[in-house]
Amino acid sequence: MILSQTCVFKSILQHGRCFTRSRFSEKALVSKFTSAPLSSGAIHRAQSSFTGGVERTLVAVKPDGVQRRYVGQIIQRFEKRGFKLVGLKMLQASDGLLSQHYRELVKKPFYPNLVDYMTSGPVVAMVWEGLNVVQSSRRMVGPTNPAEAPAGTVRGDLSLHVSRNVVHASDSVEGAEREIQLWFEGKELLNWECYDHSLTYKEDK
Ligand code: UDP
Ligand code: MG
Repeated sequence: MILSQTCVFKSILQHGRCFTRSRFSEKALVSKFTSAPLSSGAIHRAQSSFTGGVERTLVAVKPDGVQRRYVGQIIQRFEKRGFKLVGLKMLQASDGLLSQHYRELVKKPFYPNLVDYMTSGPVVAMVWEGLNVVQSSRRMVGPTNPAEAPAGTVRGDLSLHVSRNVVHASDSVEGAEREIQLWFEGKELLNWECYDHSLTYKEDK
């Protein structure tokens, strides 16, 4: 373990990143462990030896969350839970991107206001990976309408109105796969594994 940690730290110092090999990555995630993108849809539902599946999901801090300086808090919630950040960027969302992202909503009366809101400033888009991360992140974010969101959820703690609900999280594994491909290029997603994996996961024998 000490040797492995030393290698990781050395790797971080030398290359600014910690790529290691483990049985988990070989068995459950990817066949090759490199900085290559996980562009294939397979990763989003890669079955491990765990009860559920290792998934990826899109979480985005919306412009109100960025303006109110909640980016760090939101990242921290996902880190604390044990999920792994595999993609992160700040961007100004375009009308085109939003019309694809919210394709089911373009005919809704609130859609023009939604686009105004989502283009009012930068968005911080993230891809988080982990066991059942799609469903777990929806629970962590809370219901769409903050008035219905329990305390302890991001929306329940940080927002009041449905039109300013601070954060996005994909609502299904299929939706996550589609949204990740919309918001990120494959090369922007990293396969990496940190040394504390065994503290948050237990492999079945
Ligand atoms: N929205 C809104 N008014 C509504 C419903 C939704 O402004 O009556 C916005 C809100 O920002 C919401 C987003 O549209 O987060 C997408 O709606 P969806 O139903 O997909 O909710 P979500 O998946 O974000 O919980
Ligand atoms: Mg939605």
